[in-house]
Amino acid sequence: MPLLPSFCRFVERVAINMALRWSLKTELPEGPSEAIRFNRSLCIRFRAAPWAGLPARRWRATAGALIVWIIGLLLLAGCRTGPPVQPLPRFEFSSPHMGTLFTISLYAQSKSNATAAAQAAFRRVAALDDMMSDYKADSELMRLCDQPCGKPVPVSPELFSVLERCQKVSALSGGAFDVTVGPFVRLWRFARKRGVLPTAQEIAKARAAVGWQKMRLDRHGCAVTLLAPNMRLDLGSIGKGYAADQALGILKASGIERALVAASGDIAIGKPPPGDGAWKIGIAQLGGRTNEVNCTVLLHDAGISTSGDSEQFIEINGVRYSHIVDPATGLGLTERIQATIIGPDATTTDSLDTTLSVLGVRRGLALADSLPGVAAVIQTRHNGQTQTFPSRRFKKIRLVK
Ligand code: ADP
Ligand code: MG
Repeated sequence: MPLLPSFCRFVERVAINMALRWSLKTELPEGPSEAIRFNRSLCIRFRAAPWAGLPARRWRATAGALIVWIIGLLLLAGCRTGPPVQPLPRFEFSSPHMGTLFTISLYAQSKSNATAAAQAAFRRVAALDDMMSDYKADSELMRLCDQPCGKPVPVSPELFSVLERCQKVSALSGGAFDVTVGPFVRLWRFARKRGVLPTAQEIAKARAAVGWQKMRLDRHGCAVTLLAPNMRLDLGSIGKGYAADQALGILKASGIERALVAASGDIAIGKPPPGDGAWKIGIAQLGGRTNEVNCTVLLHDAGISTSGDSEQFIEINGVRYSHIVDPATGLGLTERIQATIIGPDATTTDSLDTTLSVLGVRRGLALADSLPGVAAVIQTRHNGQTQTFPSRRFKKIRLVK
């Protein structure tokens, strides 16, 4: 009876359509949307009592939707005669970029689909590296820095928009985040090679070329003016997150939405795995063993970044200096601190993990609390003890053991 399966599929589609329409109509009134977007546990929390405070019309709609769902499910159970729908397989890809390993996890119909999309995403990351690297003398960023100071230099709209985001974070953080920190970072890299701290004169000389207000952005002309000689911009604290977001965007454009792009500690997260509400992301324990997690969060459609001195540091005269520089001192941070940020995208979270590390617990959490859609957890370590400080929104996130 060839007609029966197609009739069943027809009934199934009608039932799903009706159920979907009804459920869309009964969407809850908008709550703190950032919470709903990035965390399933908050999602569940907000939807736990969907009837509370609903007017009678909404009540009827909710009840109607439930009935349609139940009918739909019964029809599905009764009519299914064909083979069960195949679950989407998962694919993993990795490729070295920006001095780290980019990893893509995705669910797709076929291996060829998955491979083509992942390759396109990695090509995008490589192109961004060519634009933003401070290691490549011919990157757009370094060519900008090579121009004489005081002269407006036209740049690509994309580089301009990244620099604009940097300036916003600098303004928000009172300069704790500073994309002009390049001369200090160079001193740090040099110190790491020599095992000797930079001298006070070297720091003073570098300081003359550092300061976010020494970079002027002209949106109209899409031009950047560096106001002091020898300025060196450094996108190391935002570039990987931005590239991860862009790579995720490429996957989405190829029709692959259930995906995650990880650039080391910066992760852009798309729709959840099939049949699952969220991706599980472990947050490393500061000072812990490899793979030891402090906690695990459930996320989708979000970014998460962690920054700290676990991997990159120098120890000189018994003092440990992080690769994150405090623009106020010109030296790497000496407090053992690790900041994890959850937010709407990885560009935001990458810039903020560095910022919160510089600001420290009190000012860092206050900044996180002031930003819509941002949750943070900071870990510090003193005398072999790790302390964990969650932000207001982070406390509401259901953690997985
Ligand atoms: P990771 O590179 O380990 O992911 P971050 O996201 O915190 O860690 O970025 C650290 C990089 O950011 C440094 O290697 C340096 O290039 C740059 N950087 C260091 N200090 C600052 C700062 N105060 N503001 C902006 N960028 C910084
Ligand atoms: Mg960062």
